[in-house]
Amino acid sequence: MSSIIKSDYLVIGSGIAGLSFALKIADHGSVIILSKGSASESNTSYAQGGIASVTMDSDNIQKHIDDTLIAGAGLCHQDAVKSALSEAPERIKDLVKWGVKFTKTDDGDFDLAKEGGHSEHRILHAADMTGAEIQRALLEKAKTHPNIAIYENHLAIDLITEHHVLGNLQSAFNICFGAYVLCEIDNCVIPFQANYTVIATGGASKVFLHSTNPEIATGDGVAMAYRAWVRIANMEFVQFHPTSLYNPGKRSFLISEALRGFGGQLINGDNERFMPKYDERAELAPRDIVARGIDAEMKKRREDCVFLDMRHLNAEEVKSRFPNIYKYCKESINIDISKDPIPVVPAAHYFCGGIMTSLNGQTSMQNLFSIGEAAHTGLHGANRLASNSLMEGLAFSHNAAMKVINKRPRNFGSVIIPHWDESGIVDVKEWVLVRHNLKEIQNIMWDYVGIVRSKKQLNRARRRVHVIYQEIEDYYKKSKISGDLVELRNLAAIAFLIITSGLRRNESRGLHYMTDYPDKSDKFLKDTII
Ligand SMILES: Cc1cc2nc3c(=O)[nH]c(=O)nc-3n(C[C@H](O)[C@H](O)[C@H](O)COP(=O)(O)OP(=O)(O)OC[C@H]3O[C@@H](n4cnc5c(N)ncnc54)[C@H](O)[C@@H]3O)c2cc1C
Repeated sequence: MSSIIKSDYLVIGSGIAGLSFALKIADHGSVIILSKGSASESNTSYAQGGIASVTMDSDNIQKHIDDTLIAGAGLCHQDAVKSALSEAPERIKDLVKWGVKFTKTDDGDFDLAKEGGHSEHRILHAADMTGAEIQRALLEKAKTHPNIAIYENHLAIDLITEHHVLGNLQSAFNICFGAYVLCEIDNCVIPFQANYTVIATGGASKVFLHSTNPEIATGDGVAMAYRAWVRIANMEFVQFHPTSLYNPGKRSFLISEALRGFGGQLINGDNERFMPKYDERAELAPRDIVARGIDAEMKKRREDCVFLDMRHLNAEEVKSRFPNIYKYCKESINIDISKDPIPVVPAAHYFCGGIMTSLNGQTSMQNLFSIGEAAHTGLHGANRLASNSLMEGLAFSHNAAMKVINKRPRNFGSVIIPHWDESGIVDVKEWVLVRHNLKEIQNIMWDYVGIVRSKKQLNRARRRVHVIYQEIEDYYKKSKISGDLVELRNLAAIAFLIITSGLRRNESRGLHYMTDYPDKSDKFLKDTII
């Protein structure tokens, strides 16, 4: 039986949100960071385009706010938008202080890119590997801090709440005491107890068949919170990135929107540019519009993909501005992106919804915070503006750290955390069934809950996911715990949350497009809360 591991702060997740929170708080107490794989494997590491912030006099914060509100289609929380974007320039200074090296011009200014939906050039980047550079710098910094311990290959299974603890609790309900965590090296479950627990587990796009996200994006934090009766909001708003490399059967790879910002044009199989037909902003329209334009073009022409064309641009500049994409396309499908059109399809990319939080990352459960993509702060509303998500992770982790610094933890009385109960558990070898369920969920979500939805499709998806969900729960209760099983259970919960939220919104707004309700309705000018 593994003994309890205690710290002041338990941070679940080692992406931009978890690491920046840890760095801010570490001088004030002991911090444990968990990552379920290696600490560098996160969505953050794969971010290519950059991070949005006003840094030049020619731009201003109000314009960044206005662009964000327009993309958010009426559902942004104005206070969250104002808070995050006004503070963004300060948060960029934090990154630079922690050692992040952004690409600069010959004059020594930040080299700023422009992306879809932004009215100005305001995207700071590190070539086309911005996320990898941020992850590198923050992780290096965290590893050298004496108060931070990083536990890799430690997968949080469930939150420890008042339901689990024994003892003389003075408060009746709704408190988080840490998490039960599977050590994937020893295959044992360890209770991690903390005064404050922070969910920074990132997104859940792996619930869809096609996704731009790495394998870790299984929505664990949101699913854990949901099981603990924490409020979840706006899970119907899933962003599909318009352009991931079309390379069937292979790991998905993002073709950054920065290529369109640089002048790339979308063409169909007959070399015809089609986006101007769908929106006057053409390739630079917000992502949902571009993704729907591609989806419609592919369906109309019965083609498996469209193409991103960079051939009219300066070849040397294309290669030097996008070295990572150039190399990947050359090695994986043997095309030269400066000479050949790039085959692309849309793929699930980002969750605007998640665990409901205040501006300080506080959830509806005491001592539980959430930051980054796992959280719903209200910044993105019904659609995220490109490159605002890395900034969201930074901005709200700063706010959360400021909230808990020097805050004395409340005394809830004597608390005894029981060990993980494995009684009645056997090693049932039905792994085929589990793997089959995963593929089934991903297919159902792609076919019925994707870019274009309808009531009929959502209901069909709900019926099917419900059966699978019950099957998984049944299997989970009697089986020895494993990482794959925990993730599958979480993905089933995420699928349920997206479908249920989608069924509650009888309108089309931002990323949620329903063929039977094609217009916005003021009746739905509110968050969907579960
Ligand atoms: C290909 C790609 C390109 C992108 N490009 C951009 C961009 O240019 N600009 C932008 O702003 N955004 C971009 N995004 C989105 C952005 O990268 C993410 O929203 C952001 O990095 C999320 O950060 P995070 O810290 O919340 O989570 P992540 O960076 O995903 O980190 C999650 C962490 O949680 C850990 N974890 C998860 N579950 C568990 C568990 N059960 N137990 C323990 N640990 C767990 C993981 O191991 C990981 O360490 C992109 C995303 C992708 C996938």
